[in-house]
Order: sequence, then C-alpha cells, then structure tokens
Amino acid sequence: MPSKYLVVGNWKMHPATVDEAKVIAKKSRLIAGKLVRTEVVACPPFAFIPASVSRTQAENFSIGAQSVSGDEGGAHTGEVGAAMLKSLGVSYVIAGHSEQRAAGDTDEMISRRIGRALDAGLSVIACVGEKVREESGSHFAFIKEQIKNSLANVSEDKRSRIILAYEPVWAIGAQDAMAPEQIYEMSLFVKKAFADAFGPEAGLKVKVLYGGSVNFRNAADIIVRGKVDGLLVGRESVNMPGFSELLKAVDGIGTGQAQTA
Ligand code: PEP
Repeated sequence: MPSKYLVVGNWKMHPATVDEAKVIAKKSRLIAGKLVRTEVVACPPFAFIPASVSRTQAENFSIGAQSVSGDEGGAHTGEVGAAMLKSLGVSYVIAGHSEQRAAGDTDEMISRRIGRALDAGLSVIACVGEKVREESGSHFAFIKEQIKNSLANVSEDKRSRIILAYEPVWAIGAQDAMAPEQIYEMSLFVKKAFADAFGPEAGLKVKVLYGGSVNFRNAADIIVRGKVDGLLVGRESVNMPGFSELLKAVDGIGTGQAQTA
C-alpha cells in the first residue's frame, strides 16, 4: 500500500461562479482534514484558484492548476506561468490532459509545460492514455511514446515530483470506468515505461493514478483491484456529496469500511 492514496479532482470548466467554487473547495478541504490515508488535490479553473486556496494550513489538502504555460514570462497573452501559480499557493499542475491534447497540445508542448512547472518547484500530474484500443495492442507503444516524449526534459533531480495519471481517453466523461483488471495491467505497464526512461528505481517509486469515469461507487474497487496509487477524478470532484463519499470510500480501504462496487 502506498504511504497515502492521492485523489486529484479536476474541476474542468466548473463551477459557474466563484461563490460555488468557494463552497466546493471548502467542503473538499474539510473532508480532507478528516482523512487518514488519503491526500486530496483540488484543481479549480485558474480564475477560481485564489478563492480556493485556504489562508490556513489545510491537512491532506492542496491546490493544483489544470495547466501551466510552457514559457517563463513575457509576451504570451492568455498564458499563466508556473511561478505565478506557485505564488498563489498552488502545489501541483496537471499536464497533458487529453482535453488539452485535443485542443492542440503536442508532446513537445507538454514537455515544455512540465519543465516550467518543475523549475518553479511544483509537482506534476502527467496524463497519458490511448484514444482507442485495438486488438493489435498498439496502445502500449502509443503510451510508451507519450511518456518518453512528454517527460523528455525531466532531469534526474526532479523526477520524484512526477506523478503519472493513466487516463484512457475513451473512458473520460463516459458512463463506465475501465475494468479494474485492465487498470492493473496498464498501471504496471506505465510504471515499466517510466522505468525504461528513468531507471528501475524511479519506476518502483513513481505514483500512478487512474482517471476516467471514477465515482463514489467504483473508486475504492479501482484502487484495490486496479492496484493504483490514487485517482484523477473529473465530474465527481465538483459533485457534492458524491466527492465526499468517494474520499471516505478511498480512506476506508483496508479498514473494512471501504465501499466497493
Ligand atoms: C478527467 O477529466 O480527467 C476525468 C477523468 O473526467 P471524468 O472523471 O469525468 O471521466
């Protein structure tokens, strides 16, 4: 069992107002404070980050950003830099999310974003995942390339701040998550691909999250049978009380109180 499970909430472009964002952040923070085996990272849209950061130290709770600029500063209209995020109290950034890849992000761009985030002292949730699954198993080579290319600029001293999120694109925003047995296979594969790029010790240490239609019903089962270190949660992360039930279920793993499907 990992030291603590990591549950990352990707709010996407939700909620509609800052007041709603404050409520979701506050509820997530309060629940996180009661957890024993679970760390929570809430990733609001950029506009709601200041309202979501707590002035007081929050136990088991951090704020992440959904993206970061690949540039350090200067004439880049619309961009938000890693140092700016850090100065707001952000600790994590998501990079390589499939929705950003669909909007034009290439592995090269993702690698630049990751490089800037690591330089600023942030941790990175690097997303990888195939768009489709073919009988031929071509998704293995596809994911291996994504890992190799998008982490191309990660130096040895910074690789411990990389967390991998395996998100099969076809399972994001879908009705059902991937089957836990398949998740297990992919989490092993993703660790192996990381080990091939950074050495066996790094492969053993890297945390792997699963993302794609996780909810309060399937969360604990995915962690237990999928043998992942945590979850990247989209829709359910802004749905209260669903998210609080999800966190309780994950925290209850191994105590006889986990809610599994
Ligand atoms: C995501 O946005 O990364 C995600 C996994 O979304 P959902 O949980 O809604 O499928």
